[in-house]
Amino acid sequence: MSVVIIGGGQAGLQVADSLRSGGYPEAVTVIANEPGLPYQRPPLSKDYLSPEGSPAPLPLRAASFFADKEITLRSGVRAAAVDRAARTVTLGNGEQVDYRHLVFATGAANRALTCPGADLPGVHLLRTLSDAAALHADLAAARRVVVVGAGFIGLEVAAAARARGCEVTVLEFAPGPMGRALSPVTGAWFAAAHTRAGIRLQFSEGIASLEPGMDGRVGWAVSTTGARYRADLVVAGIGVVPNDALAAAAGLETGNGIGVDAALRTSDPSVLAVGDCASFPSAHTGARIRVESVQNATDQGRHAARTILGAAEPYTDLPWFWSNQGSLRLQIAGLSAPGDQLVTSGDPESGKFSVLCFRDGRLAAVESVNSPGEHLGARKLLAAGISPAPEEVTVPGFSLKTLAR
Ligand code: FAD
Repeated sequence: MSVVIIGGGQAGLQVADSLRSGGYPEAVTVIANEPGLPYQRPPLSKDYLSPEGSPAPLPLRAASFFADKEITLRSGVRAAAVDRAARTVTLGNGEQVDYRHLVFATGAANRALTCPGADLPGVHLLRTLSDAAALHADLAAARRVVVVGAGFIGLEVAAAARARGCEVTVLEFAPGPMGRALSPVTGAWFAAAHTRAGIRLQFSEGIASLEPGMDGRVGWAVSTTGARYRADLVVAGIGVVPNDALAAAAGLETGNGIGVDAALRTSDPSVLAVGDCASFPSAHTGARIRVESVQNATDQGRHAARTILGAAEPYTDLPWFWSNQGSLRLQIAGLSAPGDQLVTSGDPESGKFSVLCFRDGRLAAVESVNSPGEHLGARKLLAAGISPAPEEVTVPGFSLKTLAR
């Protein structure tokens, strides 16, 4: 009997690694439908897109890791069905693998563009290494880039394309950037900074259709206001949907992700779910959420291994996130929410500052711009449950880093 992990991404590999470091003695198998060695996704929208960006992926673990840790990596094959009564996973090639514990670490898939012309050559989504390789190749010849969606990935791609000298337009139907995860104060600062860098940001304007140019590739993006933008490359970053269909077909509870309890167990206690695909009760918001970040995938991977090894503690790790948009470095600790009291520390004019988000008078999240020391301080304070008073923050010399010492 063994642990079978479906998905060879950040979360799945962490489960395997932590099982071994926790002393799990039985077989561990990772079923990964992407070919080759599992790799890190964050560079795909950052360094990978620079002109000198290496098309070589950054592996999550060296090839020797799998042999050293006696972890079987089955890459290039998908898990096609799960029989929970028989405790077997059937692979796409018909093979069956038995499990004692099964972990879904199936991640998420890009939400596709559905407007007319979405299938034209030159229209890209970005999730996988092969997506990134195709985008990197097209960027080399691109002059006018339209990005659909001013989320983290859309703005990272926009900044990379601008740094390569492209004319860049971002269409976003919301009134500001990164609105799902960022306060309006920090969002407005990023919008101004990207505008200064020469990126045209069109808010409250979605994509209506894409039209071909003379060469049959994408040539124009038409927005919901009827405006037409020249485009020889279009990248859509309009969010993801969790890969939960296999879990649903196996009779597990799903709904915007695979539902798990505080110990990351699904409605079947021998089956767990972690990372982008998991919908879990958040100790920080009190609500059921899904988080798409390296931190969440890694920490949930560690936590699921502990659950399998016999602990059944609630997952409480502090959420944190980063996004590098050109030279702008955004780091977020905790989860902000609409209605938070926002207090700025530092001088936004200097390009280095933090926005502290208070809920019911207590620190709930901190958004730091080009201030890694403040971000680390925020993480320490939030994890320890220590909160400054909102009025302390504006006192000259206030520093989260100092307070956290
Ligand atoms: P994934 O990494 O998606 O891995 C899941 C794997 O499971 C995939 O390979 C999938 O193909 C596979 N799979 C699915 N179904 C099956 C099946 N039936 N059988 C076999 N295999 C299957 N996060 C940050 O914190 N900071 C960043 O700067 C950042 N930048 C990002 C940039 C890009 C371009 C992208 C795409 C993501 C970025 N993220 C970032 C998010 C972060 O990479 C993800 O949250 C993280 O990778 C999630 O890990 P995961 O293991 O849950 O899912």
